[in-house]
Amino acid sequence: MTTSEAKEYKLSADCELRFEVEDETVICELKSGLAEMFGTELMRAHKYHFRSGSKVAIFTYHGCVVELTGRPEVDYISRETPMTFYVNLSAALEALRTKAQEEDRCGPTLMVVGPSDCGKSTLCRILLNYAVRMGRQPLFVDLDCGQGCVSIAGTLGAVTVERPADIEDGYSLVAPIAYHFGHTSPDGNITLYNILMKCLSKSVEMKMQTEKRSKYSGVIINTCGWVKSHGYQAIIRAAQDFNVDIITVLDQERLYNELVRDVNSSVKVIFTPKSGGVVERVRKYRIEARDAKVRWYFYGTAKSGLYPYSFEVPFSQLRVYKIGAPNLPDSCMPIGMKTEDNLTKLVSVSPTAQTLLNHILAVSTATSVEDNLKVIESNLFGFVCVTNVDIERQVVTLLAPQQRPLPPNCILLLSDIQFMDSH
Ligand code: ATP
Repeated sequence: MTTSEAKEYKLSADCELRFEVEDETVICELKSGLAEMFGTELMRAHKYHFRSGSKVAIFTYHGCVVELTGRPEVDYISRETPMTFYVNLSAALEALRTKAQEEDRCGPTLMVVGPSDCGKSTLCRILLNYAVRMGRQPLFVDLDCGQGCVSIAGTLGAVTVERPADIEDGYSLVAPIAYHFGHTSPDGNITLYNILMKCLSKSVEMKMQTEKRSKYSGVIINTCGWVKSHGYQAIIRAAQDFNVDIITVLDQERLYNELVRDVNSSVKVIFTPKSGGVVERVRKYRIEARDAKVRWYFYGTAKSGLYPYSFEVPFSQLRVYKIGAPNLPDSCMPIGMKTEDNLTKLVSVSPTAQTLLNHILAVSTATSVEDNLKVIESNLFGFVCVTNVDIERQVVTLLAPQQRPLPPNCILLLSDIQFMDSH
């Protein structure tokens, strides 16, 4: 498409219109028939706006006519999609939920694994949306610290999904559980990652016990694309920690066979086809997607904007810590301590432009740093971003989602994630 005139696409049953948006916004409208995007139904005659970076698939079970206005970078109709497999998987999960409800026990826990860019997050979104459309309220656990579907990158989190993801804005994230990890890949600190996974699994278990609807609806877990060495070990651990019933392995037969060999025989491991539409994202896109998530946290979306606040905090009131001291060999450690202890140690960070400027700080609910593990295992209030460090006046400027000042003696945890506030 070379002009920004509207173009109509006639889709037969079980076909998918795929398009990517590069610079200009593309408007999509369902003209007739029924269609959905990653499990969320499109409303007829409604104009959906897709902004730069969007990679979209409009699928139809019955046939439809869709109109695009704008200049998508790529646009084509595909007849080859794994949607029938996904809808059958969803139906099987629904049968397990019904059984769980009859027997008053927890619904199924399904974990999606696979290498980077194979459509893990998208499959989770489809399964969650289908579950919600069946009247369920599943829990979504996100172990992918690289993108952060539940919160922002650098965290591990969980949230109850009560309604289908919005076509343009994604999930409505009400009261998520989020733990600070601070890195974009588990290998940033695998010891800490494993502790947080265990901790999150306990929180999820508690949520299942207290929320009856979630209990029967079960859990969908998204994972990182790191599927080798420690990454693979983390998948095995996650399967144990979360008592996973089903693992769907996207795309990689080797990973599938390894998991069949290594996980408990009671866990069903399913090889799952990857959609040909999944787009491989280069590093630049990953960074942009991460950035977009942070911007969303502070500024909301085009449809529902937020207005963050900026305030100064004197150095004397700032308590910033980084989790994990530099790695030393066991022989250099004090008697009785292991290298791993260093990886969960809270290290105080002095405020300088180099250490803090543009970094995200997680606001911990912990009140004391005496017990390091307690801080690590504490849920987060939210995040602030350091937009200025004034050494002369000894103050930092923080961007925060609310006007209320930070709680006194508030513990801030330094993240590797950086955000340039260009507003
Ligand atoms: P990561 O390893 O970074 O976590 P992932 O395996 O979770 O990636 P997704 O994020 O699900 O992969 O998909 C990568 C991109 O492909 C996303 O931008 C998504 O919107 C797009 N995508 C997924 N399925 C399709 C499809 N059928 N057609 C077009 N685009 C798609």
